[in-house]
Amino acid sequence: MRYILSLDEGTTSARAALYNQEGRRLAMATVPIPCRYPESGWVEQDAAQIWTAQLDAMRRTLAEIDAQPQEIAAVGITNQRETTVVWDRHTGAPIAPAIVWQCRRTADRCRALAASPDAARITAKTGLVIDAYFSGSKVEWILDHTPGARERAEAGDLLFGNIDTWLIWNLSAGATHVTDPTNASRTMLMDLASGDWDEELLGIFRIPRAMLPRIVPSSGVCGQVAATILGAEIPIAGIAGDQQAALAGQACFRKGLSKNTYGTGCFALLHTGAEMPVSAHRLLGTRAANLGAGAQFAVEGSIFIAGAAVQWLRDKVGLIESAPETEQIALSINDTGGVYLVPAFVGLGAPHWDAAARASFTGMTLATGRTELVRATLESMAYQTRELVQAMEADSGAPLTELRVDGGAAQNNFLMQFQADVLGCRVVRPQDNETTALGAAYLAGLAVGYWSSLAEVESFWKADRVFEPAMPHSQRDALWAGWQAAVARTRA
Ligand code: ADP
Repeated sequence: MRYILSLDEGTTSARAALYNQEGRRLAMATVPIPCRYPESGWVEQDAAQIWTAQLDAMRRTLAEIDAQPQEIAAVGITNQRETTVVWDRHTGAPIAPAIVWQCRRTADRCRALAASPDAARITAKTGLVIDAYFSGSKVEWILDHTPGARERAEAGDLLFGNIDTWLIWNLSAGATHVTDPTNASRTMLMDLASGDWDEELLGIFRIPRAMLPRIVPSSGVCGQVAATILGAEIPIAGIAGDQQAALAGQACFRKGLSKNTYGTGCFALLHTGAEMPVSAHRLLGTRAANLGAGAQFAVEGSIFIAGAAVQWLRDKVGLIESAPETEQIALSINDTGGVYLVPAFVGLGAPHWDAAARASFTGMTLATGRTELVRATLESMAYQTRELVQAMEADSGAPLTELRVDGGAAQNNFLMQFQADVLGCRVVRPQDNETTALGAAYLAGLAVGYWSSLAEVESFWKADRVFEPAMPHSQRDALWAGWQAAVARTRA
C-alpha cells in the first residue's frame, strides 16, 4: 500500500490529501463550500453540498498524482466541529440545512439553560461552558422547527451526525453511522468521563437516543468506503475533530504537549493524557484523539478573533494590502508606544466569555500611526494566547515549556518571536503547516499498521523554526500589565 488518504472538511472548504510512508504530503486538493446567513447571527450550509465537495476534492487529489484506490491503505477524516446535520435514514436526504458551529440561533435557549438549576451539572458532566456553539441545542432546534421531525425521530427514521458522521455515512453508502470521542465531546450530549451518550442530557435536549451515532475510537477501522465511491473498498480508520486532529498532527500525543493554531481565531489545546481536566479558569474540557480503548483528554481555549483582525485591517480599514506585509511593518518599530488592540469584535471568548464586549484601540497619542496600529493588531494575538496559556498553567499546575504553532498567521516571524517573548516560553513551528489533515492521516495509518508505532509517527515531526524568548523580564511584565489594563477598559 502506497498512501493514506486524509479528508479535511473545514468551514470554508473541503480538502483531501495523500501521504506516503514517510508522512510526506504528495497531493492536496481544495473545493470551496459556501455559507448562508439567512438571519442575523444564523449560519447554515447545505449538507449535500458538503458531501459532493468532499467527494470532488477526494477524486481530484487522486487524479493529481494518478493514485489508484487499491493503493490506499486507509482513509482518515477530520472536520469542522459541532456543525449539525439531521437526515432521513431511508433516503439519506437531510431534513434541514446543516447548522454551522458559528450559528447563534439557539443563544436564547442556551442563556435560559445557563440560568437553570441544571447548568452546573451540565458543565460538570460535559466539560463545556453552556453555549449555542455546541451541537445539542442545534439538534433540538431542528427537531422543533421541521414539521413532523420529532415524531420521525422517535420512530427511529432520522439520524443525527456532525460532519464526520455525515461523511462516513455517505462514504459507506449508508452502512456505517459512527462518530469518535473528540467530536462527541462537542455535542453537549456526551458524558466526558465515561465517553458515552448521557440519558439525562438527552432528556434535557429531548433527543431520542436512536438518532445518535455509535462512538468508536479515533484510531481504528470503523467501516469501509464503499466500492461504488472510488472503485475499490478502503478501510475508514481515523476520525477526529479539526482541533484535536491538529493536536495529533503536531505529534502532541502525550500529557503536557500543547499546540496553538493561529487562523481566523486561535485554538490552543493542551494534552492532559488519561486525566480528565476540570477547568477552574473557564477553559473547556474535551477529548483528545484516542489510539485505543483508553480515554485521552485535553483542555482547550478558544479565541474568536485572531487572524481575522488582520483581515479587518486589510478589508475594512485599508491600512494594509496583504496579511504577510504586516511582518515588515511591525519590525520597522521597536514597540507600539503603549498602543493596544483588544479585538473583541464579536465579544471575547476564553477565558473571559464576554459576549457584550466590543473591540477598542487604547493608549493612542498624536504620535500613533499606521505602523503602531498594525503592530498592535499582531501583538493582540500573542497577548490573547498568553491569557489562554496562563489559564492552562493555572489549571494544570505545570508551566508550559514549549508551544507548537500552526495556522496561517503562524507564518508571521515577528508574531512568533513576540509570542515567545510574551510567554517566556519556546515557540516551535513545524515544517508541515497542514497539521489538521496530517493528524487525521496519522490516526488512520496507525490503525491499519501502515505506521507501526507512535514513535515512528512522532519521528516525522520536524521543526521549521524555533523561537526562543529573548525579552527582558521587566519589559515583558510592563507590556503584560498594559494589556491587562486595556482589556479592563474594553470590558468596562
Ligand atoms: P482558517 O483556517 O481559519 O481560514 P488560516 O489558517 O488559513 O485560517 O489563516 C488565515 C488567517 O491568518 C487570516 O485571518 C489571515 O488574516 C491571517 N494571516 C495569514 N497570513 C498571515 C501573516 N503572514 N501574518 C499575519 N496574519 C496572517
